[in-house]
Amino acid sequence: MTETLGLSLPRVAGPLPGGRGTAYVERLAETECPAFTARRKRRAEASGASFDPICWAEARGCNVLDVDGNRYVDLTSGFGVAALGHAAPVVVEAITAQAGRLLHALGDVHPSDVKVALLEALAALAPFSGARTLLCATGADAVEAALKTAALATGRPTVLAFEGGYHGLSHGPLAACGYSEAFRRPFAAQLNPHVRFAPFPRAGTSLDAALASLDAVLDDSVGAVLVEPIQGRGGVHLPPPGYLAALSARAHARGAVVIADEIFVGLRRTGPMLVSVAEGLEADVLCLGKALAGGMPLSACIGRPEVMRAWGDPAGEALHTGTFFGHPLGCAAALASLRALEALDAGAIEARGAALAARLRAGLPHASVRQRGLLLGVDLGRPGASLAVVRGMLERGYLALPAGADASVVQLVPPLVTPQALLDAAADALVEAAAAAGGGP
Ligand code: PLP
Repeated sequence: MTETLGLSLPRVAGPLPGGRGTAYVERLAETECPAFTARRKRRAEASGASFDPICWAEARGCNVLDVDGNRYVDLTSGFGVAALGHAAPVVVEAITAQAGRLLHALGDVHPSDVKVALLEALAALAPFSGARTLLCATGADAVEAALKTAALATGRPTVLAFEGGYHGLSHGPLAACGYSEAFRRPFAAQLNPHVRFAPFPRAGTSLDAALASLDAVLDDSVGAVLVEPIQGRGGVHLPPPGYLAALSARAHARGAVVIADEIFVGLRRTGPMLVSVAEGLEADVLCLGKALAGGMPLSACIGRPEVMRAWGDPAGEALHTGTFFGHPLGCAAALASLRALEALDAGAIEARGAALAARLRAGLPHASVRQRGLLLGVDLGRPGASLAVVRGMLERGYLALPAGADASVVQLVPPLVTPQALLDAAADALVEAAAAAGGGP
């Protein structure tokens, strides 16, 4: 295995974090919102393992270096952003060239040339003709814009979302957050009260049963159906074949707008550029983010022209905008990322993901491994079980995240360019960490 930063196996010396990292963690605890420090403490108490973070200093390709010089393999892609690897050269070159030319423009008043080019690229990507796009900064922004679009287009405030779904935490998407009620509870009085949840059908649910529970909550008052075609943060759940196509057909029959939140699972994470297209979900609005701009904060709410027309007279006041929406650096990065993502081979992504899943299943016969492309959820079957395993992986030099509201799942979201040898080594580290935590094999 080469020692090139980007494609190297881990190299971790001593306890984590090291001396420098510990100093940063102490400074962090003095300055960051205290909730984060408290959460780590709770997790440490729940699992018996330390949850102090490492402090990143550099990242390239599949590797992260911390301030103590430890080298890790990133199986998170930095929350799904670095699909092309960290600091992908095509993205860095695009940002550098753009920064030398135009760093900031005047958003929706006087656009940048690169923003116009990105809007055209997104229209070409969309599965409907004449797509119109609102560019935003974060995933939550894009979902917020999509929910407003649906409310304008239908005149109905009601949102149908899914248990276990995650769409970001600003007020609009938070109201539709089925991931955990704990996120909504402190702000309940400020949230859209017209939200209802359907169960997201899990493996083994029959299509008939899944549709029956959908029909119980879908009626003519629903304006927006908001769905992740594959649930990511909720624990990597794939609905039964045919469910998503039936969902959009039923939603349209009721006059609702279908919003596909592909912020996490779209753009080749699971193989295709758009999961909704691959799965027959007829979306009216698509939300993209995370990998879209390869590391820059840029997201998009892309809608059918007839739906987006609901925003009204273009000569009027912009009802939804933001100082940094459609930022030139993000647009340049997104154009480069989209080209590079398009060029990836969906079959090769699926093959590497399937090989990783097979190795994990062999090593962890009691776990349930859910996989589509390079999105994997290793369900350890016990609430909280992923916490100590994730920490054990970190100590072995692999960055992974827990998933599922009860933290029973280890989520693996490696850069799409990760070589098989690194994936094999990562699987072995997970199996070892699970055995050490008392969860396997
Ligand atoms: N939608 C999905 C499916 C996500 O997974 C996330 C973040 O994890 C979001 C929306 C929110 O994105 P952001 O954190 O950029 O606001």
